[in-house]
Amino acid sequence: MLMDSWGRQITYLRISVTDRCNLRCVYCMPPEGIQLQNHETILRYEEIASVVRVAAEHGVTEVRLTGGEPLTRPNLPALVGMLSVIQGIRDISLTTNGLLLERYALPLAEAGLKRINVSLDTLRPERFARITRGGSFETVWRGILAAEKAGLAPIKINVVAMRGVNDDELLDLARLALDHPWQVRFIEVMPVRNEASWGENLPNSEEAFLPIAEIKERLASLDLQPATGKTGSGPAREYFLAGGPGRIGFISPISDHFCGECNRLRLTADGHLRPCLLSDLEIPILPALRRGEPVLPLLQQAVALKPESHELVQNHRPVTRCMLQIGG
Ligand code: SAM
Ligand code: SF4
Repeated sequence: MLMDSWGRQITYLRISVTDRCNLRCVYCMPPEGIQLQNHETILRYEEIASVVRVAAEHGVTEVRLTGGEPLTRPNLPALVGMLSVIQGIRDISLTTNGLLLERYALPLAEAGLKRINVSLDTLRPERFARITRGGSFETVWRGILAAEKAGLAPIKINVVAMRGVNDDELLDLARLALDHPWQVRFIEVMPVRNEASWGENLPNSEEAFLPIAEIKERLASLDLQPATGKTGSGPAREYFLAGGPGRIGFISPISDHFCGECNRLRLTADGHLRPCLLSDLEIPILPALRRGEPVLPLLQQAVALKPESHELVQNHRPVTRCMLQIGG
């Protein structure tokens, strides 16, 4: 088993498959963009699968694919297919911006993908284009419907809640769970290399921060009831919504961190194990993989180095990568 120094068992591997993205969300990507990795330094699908095989032999049961935008990587269903036959992996999921989902939902489901998270911070097309620096709301919406039709379930909608950006829409977004069997999850904005200006008439990351407690107050009219039995092992606190088939989730990495329950390890597209999203420490795994050396010691080392809680707690901010390069 992969057990960290604080007694937490690691059962979840979050894998970023690319540092490329077809959007440039203001809270995620710096305005000047990022220095993209050369293809040679990105893990190949066989290499990702070999890491997952070792992790699965040591207790990892869940894998989530993320990015950058994972669907910009050619033939992602092939990777899903490779991972779905690994013994011990019970759950494969994907976090996507949904732009390419209409095309890929069915091939992904057929390859073994179980469920999906789609990021959608607004229901207003113009605002969507502004937050994502050019994205099409309608395309993402069609992607979500295609995922539903392909049988991916549950569908989770990730909403980064931001004061002065989309806080006037939180009720409308939550009401999606009244009409659809989806889980709408509100996430606090995290200060990960997004301190630069977000653009004209937009707040910066500090001004945009909206604590979950305040979001809950704004949703008070929905009469949320704590849900028993979680959908997945993630950090969201889940609630039922009277009169609707969906759920509401809250993810509060800043105002009420859930580090004590952390069960995860991250693998970046360029082959680094990252013990904690919000701490810069990383262990390179790519050289060992390419030399044919065992990766278990590196997995064990990364797990042993997991901090008890993230560094924002001590007022340090991660500085080496932006969210897009980590995978969220
Ligand atoms: N491109 C995919 C997407 O947008 O879903 C996957 C990668 S994205 C980095 C993963 C998740 O991180 C998304 O739900 C996104 O909204 C969230 N995210 C990015 N930057 C964030 C930030 N600064 N604070 C909170 N969540 C953030
Ligand atoms: Fe791309 Fe996702 Fe980051 Fe938006 S949140 S820039 S879609 S990686």
